[in-house]
Amino acid sequence: MNEKALWKLSYGLYVVSTRYGSELNGQVANTVFQITAEPIKVAVALNKNNYTHELLKKSKVFSVSILEKETPMSLIGTFGFKSGREIKKFENVKYKMGGSGVPILIEHALASLECEVETEVDVGSHTLFVAKVINAEVYKEGEPMTYDYYHQIKRGSVPKTAPMAMEVPKKEYKKYRCRICGYIYDPEKGDPEAGIPPDTPFEELPEDWVCPLCGAPKSAFEEL
Ligand code: FE
Repeated sequence: MNEKALWKLSYGLYVVSTRYGSELNGQVANTVFQITAEPIKVAVALNKNNYTHELLKKSKVFSVSILEKETPMSLIGTFGFKSGREIKKFENVKYKMGGSGVPILIEHALASLECEVETEVDVGSHTLFVAKVINAEVYKEGEPMTYDYYHQIKRGSVPKTAPMAMEVPKKEYKKYRCRICGYIYDPEKGDPEAGIPPDTPFEELPEDWVCPLCGAPKSAFEEL
């Protein structure tokens, strides 16, 4: 069996959020898909270890924010590589509360869905939640982020920001990889979101610089 065949499946990138009591949480998920049109139903698969999963098992309502292609790595890092058991993910982002009482991330979202769980399927490591869509909104036009595009950015093969046609002399800086999340620091690109300009070698990053995806310290990085 060639498991690489599965890499050819295409997915989007979403933030799935819920609330139980005073706890708001959300996580990045790529497995969100519409399954029926009448009534409109979607399915979402969440890992059982995730805090969002724990809350959703009790709340039975969730929102899906469809991320735009320009979503910064820092936002994906907050919702994808950090746990709501340790940080308050909604503290520094733009969101609103939906009619069902769930938080809806609107920062970098093209659209959102609000959903009520109807069926849960235990599929081993994950639970598949089948849900009725009770509300849907569009915030702006644009291209949605895809899972494939996100991986290209992570590998550093796609610039974090729209590329400017600028010819700069190529310098030979070494790339470094985060051992925690796999993020690759590319000196040519720097880390503009953290104020690190392009052409900053890894060695010259400030000591308190952290992985833009998972927040790991410089020491967690290895030379490629
Ligand atoms: Fe990392």
